[in-house]
Amino acid sequence: MQLHLVINTFGADLQRRYGEKIYKLTLHGGFTCPNRDGTLGRGGCTFCNVSSIIDESIQVKSIHQQLAQQANQMKKSKRYLAYFQAYTSTYAEVDKLRLMYQSALASADIVGLCVGTRPDCVPNEALTLLAEYQQQGYEVWLELGLQTANDHTQKRINRGHNYADYHYTVQKARQLGIKVCTHLIIGLPGETKRDNLSTLNQVLDSGVDGLKLHPLHIVEGSIMAQSWRAGRITPLTLDEYVDIAGELIRHTPKHILFHRISANARKPTLLAPEWCENHWLSMNAVDKNLRQFGGQGQALGDVYRFQSHLDVNCE
Ligand code: SF4
Repeated sequence: MQLHLVINTFGADLQRRYGEKIYKLTLHGGFTCPNRDGTLGRGGCTFCNVSSIIDESIQVKSIHQQLAQQANQMKKSKRYLAYFQAYTSTYAEVDKLRLMYQSALASADIVGLCVGTRPDCVPNEALTLLAEYQQQGYEVWLELGLQTANDHTQKRINRGHNYADYHYTVQKARQLGIKVCTHLIIGLPGETKRDNLSTLNQVLDSGVDGLKLHPLHIVEGSIMAQSWRAGRITPLTLDEYVDIAGELIRHTPKHILFHRISANARKPTLLAPEWCENHWLSMNAVDKNLRQFGGQGQALGDVYRFQSHLDVNCE
C-alpha cells in the first residue's frame, strides 16, 4: 500500500522535510481530564476509555524513560516526534506543562511535539509556550479532539464543549502560527455521511492544517459499551466506514495533511466492530476506494501530485 499516492500524508510530509522517516512516540504525561475529574463532568465522553489507546501503566515512568523505551523498539527511525496523547495534555499549570514538554524536547533525537487536548482546555499560556518551541525550530502540532461539529451530537456523547469552543481555540492557535490537527470520529450515534461532510466543511472553514479520521469503536469500560450491549448502538460496517472516509478525503483540499485515516483497538478491550481490530484492513480498503473513485481533493477538482519514491504511512 502506498497511501501517499492518493493522500497528502503527514508521514510523507515529514520524510520530505526531514530527509528521513520520523515516527511518533506516545507519551503519558500523567494529566487528567476536566470531563472526568468533576470540573466539567465525571463520566467522560461516552466513547472514551483512555486505556484502550495507551498503556496507562507507563505514566509511572519519566518522560525520558518512556521515550527511551519506545525508541529502543523502533528499528526504522532515528528521529521522533514526542506525542502527549493520554487525556488532556494541556490541562495543568503552565510550569508543569513546561517541565513535561521540555523533558521530551531535551532528548537529542526528538524533532518536536504533538500535544493532544480538548478544544476548551487550551489556555493562552499553553499556546504561548507551544509557540516558543515552534520559534526555536521544533515541529509543533496542537491536536484537538473535536470528533464532530454537530453540537447536538456533542451533547449526546457528553463532550462538554461545543463547536464555538473549538473555533475559538483554532483561531488563537493559528494566529500564533501553531499548526492544528483535528480529530474526527466517523460513525457517531445518529450521524450520517451528510453530518460528517458538514463537520468537515465547518472544520475547513475554521482553518486547519491536519486531520485524523477515526471509526467509532466500542471499547470495554466506556459508557457506550452499555448502550451497545443493550442494542442501542450499531457501529459502522467496514464498507460504510470506507465509503464515508473516502468521501471526506476527496472533499479535503490537498494541502491539508492526513495524520491518520483509521484507528484500531485490541480485544478484549475492543467490543465492536470486529474489523477495528486490524488497522491494515481499513487502511487498505480506504486506499482501494481512493484509487477507484479519486484521491484527496478530487471532489474539489484538486489533483494530488504524489511522490512515487516515498514509502510511508500516515504516522
Ligand atoms: S475523550 Fe478526552 S476529553 Fe473525553 S473523557 Fe476521554 S480523555 Fe476526557
